[in-house]
Amino acid sequence: MVWHTVPTLVQRVFPERIWNGNPENNRIYLTFDDGPVPGVTDFVLDELAKRNQVATFFVVGDNVCKHPELARRILDSGHQIGNHTFNHLNGWKTDLNSYIESVVQCQESLRDLLAFEAIFFRPPYGLLTQSQAKLVRETHQIAMWSLLSGDYDEQLRSEEILEKTKIHSAQGKIVVFHDQEKTAKVLPNFLPHYLDYVLDQGWSTSTL
Ligand SMILES: [Zn+2]
Repeated sequence: MVWHTVPTLVQRVFPERIWNGNPENNRIYLTFDDGPVPGVTDFVLDELAKRNQVATFFVVGDNVCKHPELARRILDSGHQIGNHTFNHLNGWKTDLNSYIESVVQCQESLRDLLAFEAIFFRPPYGLLTQSQAKLVRETHQIAMWSLLSGDYDEQLRSEEILEKTKIHSAQGKIVVFHDQEKTAKVLPNFLPHYLDYVLDQGWSTSTL
């Protein structure tokens, strides 16, 4: 089952993490995880650019090393980049040292290749232990989300993804999408419609 929205109770357990953005000025916060991946990330950037909108990309360090020019294009287009570990680690299955090493390695790839210092971090799968979170917070703000699009869920049709994401969208929400191989086919079916819907509501997108 896809857990589209995050219950307030969960948000209260981790008040030091970012769950929502500032709803002022009709803003909504779109985020894209796991790239940069040629093709799908280019598509997302093109669709955002067509509508003059911005997003935050939580990148995997290994992908940044493989496709630095694409990562550069994200920054040059006015978007925000956040750290998503070097190799997309599951915090619950990774010891503290290896986890922090992967966060640092992602940070170094951004620094070395883009001269960029990420201030936001999103844990892959949303999973990290309290001790991992404590250390990550020394250098980053942990950015979670308030709405999952479910774009990676192969059980869902693109119409369902679009409808559910539209229904749960509101000002101040942080919405998660993925620019990766698994979503490359489904994104073109709903992302342009979703972006048009956002603009039709009178909202505008903002980076974190
Ligand atoms: Zn991820």
